[in-house]
Amino acid sequence: MSATAKRQPERYPVIVVGGGGTGGAILHDLTLRGIEAVLVERGELTSGTTGRHHGQLHSGARYAFNDPESAVECVEENEILRRIARPALELNDGLFVALSEAEEAFSEPFLERCRACGIPTRLVDGKTALALEPKLNPRVRLAIQVPDGTIDAWRLPMMFFATARTNGADVRTFTEAIGLESAAGRVTGVQVLDRRTDRQYTIQGDLVVNAAGPWAGQVAGMAGATVPIQPTPGVMVAVRGRLANMVINRLSPPGDADIIVPQRNLSVVGTTSWFVDTPEEALVCPEGHIERMIEKGSEMIPALTAAPVRAAWVAARPLIGGKNGEGGRAMSRAFRCYDHQAEDGVDGLVSVAGGKATTLRGMAETVVDLVCTKLGLEAPCRTRETVLLPHKAFFSKG
Ligand SMILES: Cc1cc2nc3c(=O)[nH]c(=O)nc-3n(C[C@H](O)[C@H](O)[C@H](O)COP(=O)(O)OP(=O)(O)OC[C@H]3O[C@@H](n4cnc5c(N)ncnc54)[C@H](O)[C@@H]3O)c2cc1C
Repeated sequence: MSATAKRQPERYPVIVVGGGGTGGAILHDLTLRGIEAVLVERGELTSGTTGRHHGQLHSGARYAFNDPESAVECVEENEILRRIARPALELNDGLFVALSEAEEAFSEPFLERCRACGIPTRLVDGKTALALEPKLNPRVRLAIQVPDGTIDAWRLPMMFFATARTNGADVRTFTEAIGLESAAGRVTGVQVLDRRTDRQYTIQGDLVVNAAGPWAGQVAGMAGATVPIQPTPGVMVAVRGRLANMVINRLSPPGDADIIVPQRNLSVVGTTSWFVDTPEEALVCPEGHIERMIEKGSEMIPALTAAPVRAAWVAARPLIGGKNGEGGRAMSRAFRCYDHQAEDGVDGLVSVAGGKATTLRGMAETVVDLVCTKLGLEAPCRTRETVLLPHKAFFSKG
């Protein structure tokens, strides 16, 4: 008899919708607090935005100027991930490089804002920057070293899934939430479609956590609730060869192609930013974006122009808010957690949106604190100090 057939009707205290990094971190946190949970993901784990991001472990410096809330979240979570998820990270640091007089002048307010957010910095002159990264544009005037790094976009979330599953969580892939069941103004379960067998069934729950990333608005909409998601895609281009060892950022307010992240023997340049109405529209790379990545990125590392392109891809940021700011650059990267009882009069449903791959653990802590309050449980978060299992452990449990 299958595990599914044993439980009739199936009932879990918590059902998580969405198997990206955020859903994985939530499942891990729930499990550590002793809350039985199931996660449904309509595709493979990490098949949404999580498996296709840029791979920068943010120190927060990129957001220190325009988005200090997100910057503080990043620097705090960066430190925690170093302790609990070391094998998924490369601790190679980052350099913000100034190539013009205006960028050199930007260094002062930038350092000031980093200090205010608690982000460690080290100012180096152009000669030292070139000694650290010989392929930088020789015009580099100065650079600021920060604790950025490289994330393995797949291994990091899989470490959360591996630990959660080993601790008893139920993870169901190719299982799509197609409806939310309600009774008396309260969500009572999730109708799912098993995409392998075409079977539809219902999982009942005390609480549903919507962690569907750029699709969070669609999932909340199944219960008549709202999450103001603005899907905001960006293009990334990987070229062959490791052109720098550190993460190279432009010392200016965020713009196109201003980050180059080394990933194994590749260099990934990104990104652009524009608005779409649905995340599905973010599957196509708009004309001219790849060329723009190479052209702008090569201002920081001229060798980029001659490097063979290995791949290019697009992913949609699950940002919160309306279409304000140029292509989404002005929108905060901070996250929000929604209790739909308070927001829309729909009980039994909680959503989380926004944030970064770097802040997935912190997002989960906030969500699960709310889950505990709603379920009347007192169970402290233990994810800050719990070292995660290796990603391979996910596959060793049948
Ligand atoms: C261009 C770009 C570059 C980025 N670079 C970085 C970076 O360098 N560093 C960083 O820290 N962050 C970066 N980010 C941000 C980061 O990728 C996201 O914040 C993070 O991956 C979001 O994860 P998530 O789990 O919330 O969403 P997702 O990974 O999208 O997960 C949501 C999941 O829900 C599933 N789902 C949707 N609807 C249903 C349904 N009805 N039933 C079941 N499952 C469903 C989807 O299939 C998906 O797997 C970048 C984002 C973009 C777009």
